[in-house]
Order: sequence, then structure tokens, then C-alpha cells
Amino acid sequence: MNVYADNAATTAVSDTALAAMLPCFQEIYGNPSSLHSPGQRAAERLAAARETFARRLGGDPREITFTSGGSEADNQALRSAAALGARKGKKHIISTEFEHHAILHTLEALEKAGYEVTLLDIPPDGVVTAEQVKDALRPDTCLVSVMFANNEIGTIQPIPEIGRVCREAGVLFHTDAVQAAGHLPIDVQAMDIDLLSLSAHKFHGPKGVGVLYARKGIPLVNVIYGGAQERGKRAGTENIPGICGAAAAFEEACANLEKNAAYLEPLRDKLIAGLTAIPHTVLNGDPKRRLPGNVNVCFEGIEGESLLLLLDGKGIAASSGSACTSGSLDPSHVLLALGRPHEVAHGSLRLSLCEYNTPEEIDYILAEVPGIVSYLREMSPVWDELEQGKRPHLI
Ligand SMILES: *Cc1c(COP(=O)(O)O)cnc(C)c1O
Repeated sequence: MNVYADNAATTAVSDTALAAMLPCFQEIYGNPSSLHSPGQRAAERLAAARETFARRLGGDPREITFTSGGSEADNQALRSAAALGARKGKKHIISTEFEHHAILHTLEALEKAGYEVTLLDIPPDGVVTAEQVKDALRPDTCLVSVMFANNEIGTIQPIPEIGRVCREAGVLFHTDAVQAAGHLPIDVQAMDIDLLSLSAHKFHGPKGVGVLYARKGIPLVNVIYGGAQERGKRAGTENIPGICGAAAAFEEACANLEKNAAYLEPLRDKLIAGLTAIPHTVLNGDPKRRLPGNVNVCFEGIEGESLLLLLDGKGIAASSGSACTSGSLDPSHVLLALGRPHEVAHGSLRLSLCEYNTPEEIDYILAEVPGIVSYLREMSPVWDELEQGKRPHLI
């Protein structure tokens, strides 16, 4: 059986999204900046896609900028808020320890450029609080950036509460909503969100398309310079097929949000129950305040990478953390931020489901994982020492 359980890394393009893209390759292939009819037909599609994102997020089409993905949207959001802050003499930014590297590495670059960054600690349940944000605010704070839902452990952050704290303090609030968009309800007005990033390939749209929502009045700085596309804030001929696919996927995901969550949560909970029944296994992140399809556990005494390879041999595609950190020897910065010791963080497994997964696939995963974990533990010298009491169990 082949099971794809790595939907937090990327998803399959849906039939609906593909159908929206196909005409844009050979029929509606004009450049939307061209004045002729073929160009204008493409411009119409672009406008319709912008309208879809605005409507579904609760904003205005003029507040939507298309980018090359979530990473670019994150870069542009932070750099724009930072530039605005500097103009007012405010150069302090608050974010969290467990953001995606698109945020953390942009913040490192801003630190080198003279900004001060406070990264909030991650509580044991993987949910930062509005109190933490409030306590970290300073008179020179220009931006708070807290992700909507974490990409590794799936925990959902109290976005409306954090939004309110920021709004009351007059500080811009950005959220990396790449894991949440199309999976959780989002309303930029009700949640007091000023800037928001999302990425199409995390909700069955194509790769290479992102959206930056920026509230009216927040000037964006360019990350890409060139032509006057996207009101001059993001140069380059628009990726019309990608953008149309992204809009169709977003519309579909938002229309089916509750249905998908109701389908996925019991599957997720069954996986969590089955996996945590394996001795010396711990769930990472709050059991309920998490994305409907996210499961993340640590097995003591094994290496996540070995587990992934053996699972792949059984046809199961999973992850040990974010796709970006896999392949490096460092354990996940998210699990370390959560307080897991290095040796425990190394034994992590993330299974991220989508509505295409079936109950039979969940049963198959649960039938295969315990045997593989036992096999790896039997071969592990560390496990041997743990079992003989030469070192204490950490889980
Ligand atoms: C995937 C992801 C990104 C990056 O999005 P890309 O479109 O792949 O650049 C950023 N933030 C989070 C939380 C993600 O999960």
C-alpha cells in the first residue's frame, strides 16, 4: 500500500485546481500587462483570482499581492513592517522560537541590519499566549510575527487574542498562515491581522505561488525589483496558471473546511492514540489545539531518519520534521524549542494527513509503525542502555 502522509511538506494538486490551470497554458496565455485582448483575458483571470483570495480572507483585492510562495511572502511582510518601523524610529521585532525558517532567517538578516529581535519561548503545549506577546512589547516594537499554526507540531496559536493585543498597542501584526490557510477559518478583520502569508501548495494548489495580504495603508517594500506588476511591489510577469490554480484550490479548500476537519480529526486522533500506546513515546504539542491532520510524536531510543527510510520501504511517506531540516543532522528547532532533549527530538515522526487519506491507510500505518520502532530499538545501543537502566528514560 502507498500512503502519502506528508501533506505539511506539500500536497497533490486537486482536480479543481488543475482544471483551472490548464486553459492558462495554451488558450489564455497572454501577458496581463498587454493592452490587447489576449492580454486582457489573462488580466481578467488575475483579477478574479485576487478577488477570490480577498473575499475568502476578509480583505480587499487591493490588499492581495501574489508572490513566488510562502517564503517570499514572509520575507516581504517582515521587511515591509521593519522598514515602516525604522521610519518611526522603532526597530524592535517580536516573534517566536518555532517559526518557519522563512521567518527566522529573515529576522537574522534584519538583526544584522540593526534591528532587535525577541523570540518568545514555546510553552510545553506548543501554544504561545497573548500574555507572552503583551509582556514582550516595548515602546520601540514595530512588528509582532506569530505563525497561525506550526508546520511541525501543528499547534494552533491564539491569533485573535494576539491580534487584539497588537492592535491595542498600535503594533503591526503579521502571521505566517501557510499551514493554516485552507485548513482553518481565517478572517483578517475579526482577527486584527495586518499582514498574512500563505502558500498554494499546502492546500492542493500548485507550487511556486504565494499570497501576501497587507492591510490598506501598509506600504510594501520590494523583494524583487523590475516592472510595475502587483502595483509595483512585486516585479515579474504574473504566473497566471499558478495563480488561477491557487485561487481555485483556495476556494475549494475554504468551501470544504469544516467537512475536511470533521473527516480528519478522528483519523488524526486514532493515529495519536495508536502511536502513543507504543511504550516510551510522547506526543508533541497539544492533543486538540492542533491542525486537523497533524500528528507528531517522539519515540525514545531511535533515529527519526532510520524510521523514515523503513517506512518508505513500506510505502509510507512521512517526515521527521520540516522538509527543510530533514537531511541535516541537527534535530528540529521546533522540538528543541518545545523543550525536548536532543536525543528525544532525534526520534521524531510527523504524519500530516489530508482529505485524500483513507481510514484503511491509517490502519496500515498503525499496523506497520510499532514493528519498525521495535526493530530499530533492538538494534540501538542507546536503547540497550536505557533498558538495562544504565541511563534514565527521558520519556
Ligand atoms: C511551507 C511553509 C513555508 C514556505 O512556503 P513555500 O511556498 O514553500 O515557500 C513557510 N511557512 C510555513 C509555516 C510553511 O509550512
